[in-house]
Amino acid sequence: MTELMTKTATELWGGFLTAAAGKLSAHVIDSWLAPIRCSRYENATVVLEVRDQFARDWLRDHYVDFIRDELSLVAGESVAVDWIVNPELRLADTSADDETHAPPESPTERSGVTETVDLEKRESRQLNSRYVFDSFVSGPSNQFAFAACKAVAENPASSYNPLFLFGGVGLGKTHLLSAIGHQILREKPRARIIYTSSEAFVNEVINAVRFSKLDEFHNKYRRNCDVFLVDDIQLIAGKDRTQHEFFHIFNTLYDSQRQIVVTSDKLPHEIPDIEERLRNRFQWGLIADVQPPEIETRVAILRKKADSERVVLADEVIFFLAKNIRSNVRELEGALVRLMAHASLTGQPLNVDYAQAVLADILQSRSLSLSVESIQKLVASYYQVKIADLKSSRRQRILVRPRQVAMYLCRKHAGASFPELGTRFGDKDHTTIMSACKKVDSLLKTDAALRKEVLELERRLDVLNP
Ligand code: ADP
Ligand code: MG
Repeated sequence: MTELMTKTATELWGGFLTAAAGKLSAHVIDSWLAPIRCSRYENATVVLEVRDQFARDWLRDHYVDFIRDELSLVAGESVAVDWIVNPELRLADTSADDETHAPPESPTERSGVTETVDLEKRESRQLNSRYVFDSFVSGPSNQFAFAACKAVAENPASSYNPLFLFGGVGLGKTHLLSAIGHQILREKPRARIIYTSSEAFVNEVINAVRFSKLDEFHNKYRRNCDVFLVDDIQLIAGKDRTQHEFFHIFNTLYDSQRQIVVTSDKLPHEIPDIEERLRNRFQWGLIADVQPPEIETRVAILRKKADSERVVLADEVIFFLAKNIRSNVRELEGALVRLMAHASLTGQPLNVDYAQAVLADILQSRSLSLSVESIQKLVASYYQVKIADLKSSRRQRILVRPRQVAMYLCRKHAGASFPELGTRFGDKDHTTIMSACKKVDSLLKTDAALRKEVLELERRLDVLNP
């Protein structure tokens, strides 16, 4: 009897899949419908088993009408659909994944609470536990990105896909990316979230190719991933094979409406050596930028951090830090941590004088590294050229000299390394900066006009009389 019903259910489902094949994309069928087990068909009710809640919710949200209508057509009667979450399907489905491949220790661990907790642990292991939405301070500089990330976390794959988070170093991109992962896991503990840095991803591609494990690799990213979080995507520049793999993963996930979030310190069109079609994909969804925080936000970040460390900080100390460390939250936090460590070791009170003494070198390098841009700006306006021209490689005489002078001044007064300057001057090789500096150095000995220009620039920079 049961056998007969199971068969009927199997036939029904087979008929459904055939019908669906003509109407939905192969990706949707492979990723979402084929893994379903149709386990019963009785009294005009069809029981569908899915591997986890995430799949169930997603199917209910997107395909419930389609599934019911098509099943009714195949069945020749109007049917209702019951959903059951069956973790065993997940184990069958993820056989390529090493970690889930391990046999379950005991039958009780295969279903229910224990497994949920296990999965949560496994998947969130890569996510930094401190990086959650609650510990993120939002202000005008990051509000938009913050809201976009929350929207994505609340409704993966239905608001913005892909979400491209863009912003300078130390401004909270990794924090927000992790927060998305945590939030989704909190609401859907069984969601399969993959968080990876681009570096790790590049290595994975290399190893998959080298050890002929591309199938496993594809399974992991294309089949067994509901939410794909990739940090620092700009690092796949120039990595052709990685880009190729990423492109296909992107397409599969996107077509089957699974969420993709990437972070980058460059806008899509600024990432060098990247396939046009990828650049293009990044622009399909939403690009949200994170800017350096305003003073109020910096103060709030410091307060929050001090609170979480249970340290009482005088307002004047907080303002002193917030005023002096502007461009980078990581530095801001680092300064605070250092200050607290010193104070607790020496027992000295935390006042502004003390802060100034402890942070002298940070404050120094902060003001120096800040000035690459201000030097470029100053030099550009002094010689009446565009900043973009300083960063370009155009060889016209009227551009070459200002460019070399800008490089020279940055090297001398911004304390930046040659490679760093290379990057900040339009991704040039560090040797270009080195030879520019040498050139200006030697010209200064003979060229009085140049000497005058440089002196005047330095006067304006105010670096000679700090
Ligand atoms: P990015 O990835 O953009 O380089 P991170 O996400 O690593 O930056 O952030 C650097 C540090 O600053 C982290 O410790 C992060 O928690 C903290 N941070 C950045 N922005 C904020 C913010 N708005 N509120 C609280 N902490 C922040
Ligand atoms: Mg980061």
